[in-house]
Formats: sequence, structure tokens, C-alpha cells
Amino acid sequence: MKDSAAANAGKFQDPHFTASGERRAHVALSQPQTLWFNTGTLCNIECANCYIASSPTNDALVYITEEEVAEYLDQIADRAWPIREIAFTGGEPFMNPQIIDMTRAALARGYKVLILTNAMRPMMRATMQDGLRALERDFPGQMTLRISVDHWSETLHDVERGVGAFARTIEGMEWLRDAGIRMAVAGRTVWGETEADGRAGYAALYARHRFQIDADDPGATVLFPEMDETVDVPEITTACWSILGKSPSGVMCASSRMVVKRKGAARPAVLACTLLPYAPEFELGHTLADAERDVPLNHPHCAKFCVLGGASCSA
Ligand code: SF4
Ligand code: SF4
Repeated sequence: MKDSAAANAGKFQDPHFTASGERRAHVALSQPQTLWFNTGTLCNIECANCYIASSPTNDALVYITEEEVAEYLDQIADRAWPIREIAFTGGEPFMNPQIIDMTRAALARGYKVLILTNAMRPMMRATMQDGLRALERDFPGQMTLRISVDHWSETLHDVERGVGAFARTIEGMEWLRDAGIRMAVAGRTVWGETEADGRAGYAALYARHRFQIDADDPGATVLFPEMDETVDVPEITTACWSILGKSPSGVMCASSRMVVKRKGAARPAVLACTLLPYAPEFELGHTLADAERDVPLNHPHCAKFCVLGGASCSA
């Protein structure tokens, strides 16, 4: 298999120019709508293709605290960012002992909250269940848990996540259903089936368990492509927007940022997006003010996932 360097030799080097000397595309933070917090990279399991390489031992990103989150919520108000949603991802967010307090801090300021979780044992601990019930009671319908169900079938989900994972996740989802907490699902599209077949599989799964999730709504059942850095991808130039008929404002880094806390760092940092947690040049500074600058699309993910999305720009 080719590695990233071989597949994209000479490309994605200069933030301003592509390998062929054209002006690289940049994206401005035109409409900040979602602020993500990475709660820490520790996870109770170790999936075969975790994009952030989480595991029970990876603490490259350490637990962020409620106090740190509150400080960024203050900055949102100070900067008058039109944020609508605060989102938490990991690792497994329910490993972080302060996830309930962080969620409450965001809900109390009037934001909707999204939490990405595998709905397994960390979420099913009594303290977390009590906390989630209290949050739903105090802020009904304002919180969504997006559960990772890689595939609608137990067999393929467990290939990714280990034997028994599917059953435990379904158990967690049944608990959320009974607690009246809104759910969404994140799946993968690596299984060689059509999108229609995949969505039909999820619909049948939801019907079997009486989950109130729309399998045909791409916002409620989100199907992600695999992130493969070894694929040869073109660089995105300023000319690509008009050739592709796309707008920079439609790219994730036009509307969101992610706060992380690196191991050993004195304070959290703000990244351009959720997709590149370890790429140093996508770290924009410590404050939201620092993070208001434009992002050069200088990584294969920018091209493959965010701009091309299956299309090609051959100019
Ligand atoms: S559950 Fe999520 S965070 Fe944990 S290893 Fe799997 S993909 Fe990564
Ligand atoms: S991968 Fe690149 S283009 Fe996509 S959101 Fe992140 S920085 Fe922006």
C-alpha cells in the first residue's frame, strides 16, 4: 500500500501555493455555527479505523474540564459568534468525568448540544445515566446523542469494533430511547453496498428496536466515507470553487472550530476543524479570536472530504 507521502509527493507543502504553483484555496470563518470540544482521546474500545486513533491508552488529547469549556463559552459571547450548537466528541465523551457538567454549561446558555458516543459502558454508568436524565428533564429536546453504529448488521459492526460491541451499543440505545433522549446515528460506507441499501438496513434496525431515528435523513443517519490518506488527491486552488460550482462557505471550517487539550499543554488550543486533530498547521491558537483567521486547504482531507466529495476538478 502507498503511504500518504508517496501518494501525494510534493503536494500539500506550501500553505499559499500548490505544487504546480497555483494559488491554494483558503476558507474564511464566515458563519461560526458549531463549536466542538474534544473531551479527550481515551476510549473504552479500540476500533479498527478510528480516525483519531482513540483507545484505552491514547491520551494524546487529555480530558478537557468544565471550567475550560465555560471559558470558551464566554469567548463565544465576547466575540458575538452566532453559534447555535455545542458539540462534544472524543474518544468516548462519557469517559470524561465532567461531561455532564460541560453539557449543562452549554445547555444553560441556550445552545443545542450534540454528543458523539458509542453508548456503551461509560455512558451506562449510573452517574452518567442520572446526569443524562437530569439534563433531559431540565432542557427537554435540546440534546442529541449521535451513536456510532458502523453498520446496521451486528456482524459488520463487530468487525470494526470487536465481538459483542453491537449488542452493548443497542442496549445503550434502548436505554436512551426509554429515557426519551433524542438520538442520531453515525455509520460508515465502506461495506460496498449502495446508500439506498444501507439506509434500508438502518430503517429495519430502528423499526425492530422502536428507535425514533429517520434512516433517510442524512442529518439523522449520517453515513461517513472512510478517511484514507494514502489516496492520490488533487490540490484545491482558488479556481476550483467556480469550476466545481461550490462555495467556500459550504466547507466545515467556514462554520466550525474544535477546542482540544493536548497532553502536557498548559491550556487548550483551537483547531480549524474536527478532521485534523494532529496536524500542527491546523492549530490556530489558544483563543477564539486567534481562530478567526482563514484556513489554507493544505491537507489531502480538505480536498477529498470537504471540497471534491467524489467530484473532480481537473483544471
Ligand atoms: S468508539 Fe469512536 S472514538 Fe472510540 S475507538 Fe471507536 S471510533 Fe474511535
Ligand atoms: S479538512 Fe480542511 S477543508 Fe475540511 S474542514 Fe478541515 S481544514 Fe477545512
